[in-house]
Amino acid sequence: MNVESSTETKEEIKPGQFFKIRDDGKWEIYLDATMAGTFGVCEMMYREAFLERLVPKGDHPFARDLGSWWSAVMEQIYNAEFNQKRLDSKQIVDLSMKVWNELQLDELEKYHPRSFKEFGGRYGALTMIAEYATRQLPIDYQTWKIIAAEAHFGRNKEVCIGETDKIILYWMGQPDLFVLSNERIFPVDHKSIAYIDANITKKYKPHIQIPGYIIAGQIIAKQLGYDLPVDRAIINCVARTDRTSKSGESKYPRFKRISVSYSPSELDEWRSRRLRQAERLRHCFEFNDWAWNEYACSNIWNKPCQYQNIHEKPPEVRPVVIKADYIQRDFWIPGHRKSENGEAKET
Ligand code: SF4
Repeated sequence: MNVESSTETKEEIKPGQFFKIRDDGKWEIYLDATMAGTFGVCEMMYREAFLERLVPKGDHPFARDLGSWWSAVMEQIYNAEFNQKRLDSKQIVDLSMKVWNELQLDELEKYHPRSFKEFGGRYGALTMIAEYATRQLPIDYQTWKIIAAEAHFGRNKEVCIGETDKIILYWMGQPDLFVLSNERIFPVDHKSIAYIDANITKKYKPHIQIPGYIIAGQIIAKQLGYDLPVDRAIINCVARTDRTSKSGESKYPRFKRISVSYSPSELDEWRSRRLRQAERLRHCFEFNDWAWNEYACSNIWNKPCQYQNIHEKPPEVRPVVIKADYIQRDFWIPGHRKSENGEAKET
């Protein structure tokens, strides 16, 4: 079931629509965690990524593309369960290879030979999904009742974060699942990461995305008729690198579930940070004034920013660089895992 269809309301926020100026002069601002996170790192990066919609030609990040495969496989497994058509192990393996082929992931060997080899390529993918099907899924089938799958929210403006005298902020997102377990409702998000170690629990708090899932979960739970607490999310982690045989399962597990909770006051803090950010975003649009974060240009997430190639050049040269080295992707759909042309988001 899809939450938006369950509400039977008309979708209002369109791809490529960032705001609306109301008759009273306030701006409605539309954001998701990816957009807000990017804006928080560098305002100019937000502009290049979402307004100009630029991506470098031949952009094939290994972690993102593999994460897209894992997310798509997870989505189909749990959707089948939600629709009471549980997949057996062979169907799961077949499905995983079908998605692998559709995404043309053998191509990654060309772009990232070392990472591809370390992961084990197609064989590594088969091992990963087979282990998940054997070790994790049976537990989920027993302990989780899935109440919403593909639960994208917010396009109908049903998740209002709050308002100031300048803006009203509407939030969008797409946790992979909402599940009922132990008299609580949890958003669940599947994440594929390099490896899992003792620091993994630190990775998801503070976090820009999870409070939005919890706030949306509170609204969605009510819509679905549940009067149960929604105050935490489950992060369903899988490690791309299997270190279990070298170090023992307990030190570096392949799979781990992390429960991340937020108190009402923590959710309020998150709301207030987002509102301040939305006010600043209004300023950027209104005055075409986008700050540069020069600290991040040459090293962001351990690599150069994907727009350094543009911003290291004189302004008059930049259009030529953009034409030569970048393509324009289709409109980003806030809160969705894919843009209009099917390009996957990072997971
Ligand atoms: S190169 Fe620097 S200024 Fe340009 S988008 Fe990246 S971080 Fe921002």
